[in-house]
Amino acid sequence: MHAEVLVTSLMTADVPITTANADLADVIQSMIDNHFTCMVVVENDMPIGIITERDIVRLMGLFIADKPQPPMLVADFMSVPLATASEEMTLFEALVITSAQKIRHLPVVNPSGRLIGLVTQFDLAKAHFSIYLKQRDTIEQSVTQRTRELLQVNEQLKSLSLVDPLTGLGNRRAMETDLEHTHCQAVRYKRSYSVALFDVDHFKLYNDCYGHMAGDNALRRISEHLMKSIRTSDRFYRYGGEEILLIMPETSLNGALILADRILASLADLNIPHEKSPHKFITLSCGVASQVEENGYDSWIDLVDLADRGLYASKNNGRNCTTIIPPEDAADNSVPRMHGI
Ligand code: GH3
Ligand code: MG
Ligand code: MG
Repeated sequence: MHAEVLVTSLMTADVPITTANADLADVIQSMIDNHFTCMVVVENDMPIGIITERDIVRLMGLFIADKPQPPMLVADFMSVPLATASEEMTLFEALVITSAQKIRHLPVVNPSGRLIGLVTQFDLAKAHFSIYLKQRDTIEQSVTQRTRELLQVNEQLKSLSLVDPLTGLGNRRAMETDLEHTHCQAVRYKRSYSVALFDVDHFKLYNDCYGHMAGDNALRRISEHLMKSIRTSDRFYRYGGEEILLIMPETSLNGALILADRILASLADLNIPHEKSPHKFITLSCGVASQVEENGYDSWIDLVDLADRGLYASKNNGRNCTTIIPPEDAADNSVPRMHGI
């Protein structure tokens, strides 16, 4: 089954490495000579950064812009913080992380943090596709067998997917994997990240008025619109029926609030008519919460829970607005929640 495929079975143990104080020009020459697509920067056998083809393009940009002093050492130019995979990481988890963070190389580390291999997005996609083909063959064979078995294989096939079929956003399972990784990285590197939970206002009334198909169509249009409105480092997931979660890495509470408000305002521009809503067009309500360096939460669940409570408050506050529950009120359980994860 898919979940049992570990990245260690797909990685190469022969990883091109360099050090932070190496000359950048030597590293690039070595990449050219050996056809390396990346070099992992190590210190005491532990990966601390990476130089990839994308970084070389970035360097070219500096030359074109005629920056007076181009970086000379690897340390001045490598990509950090570095996303890594543990030995137990599954193919699915690695796929979510590489696609969420838009990276093509994932160094694999052992429990003491030492570099033991490298897996590429190409290796992951190839393995994923071959499993998909195998599952599909099993389904075709099962057609002649009992329906219950067919349904079971169908469920397995669904579990291969990272994407929600209706909206094209990441699905719930991918969301949880991304949040787990984002949270661990934020704690480890003492960085902040924020989440915003959106819920379509009066959506039951929309379905009642225009029909379920029109409702589906509206969800699709909203999702497409949202995806256009964010930075490339941010990720949207379908949290539930008409609920969408946004993960914003390296973003403070204030930055997240500005972005969430901008998203709400941009939905007004989309102007999807909703005659049963007091606003007369489709609106969203939102709750925002942040993991900050100096005041962190144990788990992403606490953070999403807080965003959920903010969302509840926005609903009570007339909808089409964003609410933050400040960290000092986080322990106050009298502030109710909408869902309960
Ligand atoms: P509120 O402003 O308080 O959020 O009101 P609401 O009507 O949006 O909330 P409620 O939870 O009462 O109803 C959610 C509605 O969203 C009901 C459900 O049928 C609809 N919904 C959820 N998922 C989908 C979907 O995939 N397609 C369609 N068409 N409707 C959906
Ligand atoms: Mg809802
Ligand atoms: Mg709703």
